[in-house]
Amino acid sequence: MPFSKLDLIQPLLDALHKSGYKTPSPIQQKVIPLILNGQDVMAAAQTGTGKTAGFSLPILQRLSEGKRPSANSARCLILTPTRELAEQVHQSVQKYAANLHLNSIVVYGGVKINPQMLKLRRGTDVLVATPGRLLDLMEQNAVRFNDLEFLVLDEADRMLDMGFLPSIKRIIGKLPKKRQTLLFSATFSESIKAISQQFLTNPSLVET
Ligand code: AMP
Repeated sequence: MPFSKLDLIQPLLDALHKSGYKTPSPIQQKVIPLILNGQDVMAAAQTGTGKTAGFSLPILQRLSEGKRPSANSARCLILTPTRELAEQVHQSVQKYAANLHLNSIVVYGGVKINPQMLKLRRGTDVLVATPGRLLDLMEQNAVRFNDLEFLVLDEADRMLDMGFLPSIKRIIGKLPKKRQTLLFSATFSESIKAISQQFLTNPSLVET
């Protein structure tokens, strides 16, 4: 099955071609149509399965149809457990969005906060963040989520293992209720199921 069967727009197909991807991976075949369709998704996916393109491509497509972000706001928030993963997801998003007028910003702890505050001033289509630094930025009013359309919890099980549950709850408490939420996790433990019940609406369950 080629990517063109998934109803992806040409700028994304061109970026995939440039990346050398020929066919969608099993997780991509399942989640891309669901996300394009506006559904919440809870997906079991290890790293290396192509999950990043699985959520990024349909989100970018939907973002490309809407309004530009306003000052200090983000339209899509992707939470990841570590700065390495945040950086990796941000790089992938930039690669897939190369032919679209969308921008991505990445923020994480362990580096100065001021340059991140400056970058956020203009607003961003996609914000990739680790939970601790994001909370700091929210407390400084450097980012607002009034216009948020998408929330992705990437490697949710690792975020819980690392003790981020209280931070994640505080962050999600500040997000609009009307949004599309996607959760990716290597395992579906009881605590992951509890999170999904609390923060996702009628999620489609995807296992590969
Ligand atoms: P991920 O699981 O999202 O970290 O992706 C794992 C690796 O697979 C990354 O290096 C991607 O660039 C690559 N990749 C993702 N989707 C595809 C695809 N459909 N065909 C070939 N490579 C892919």
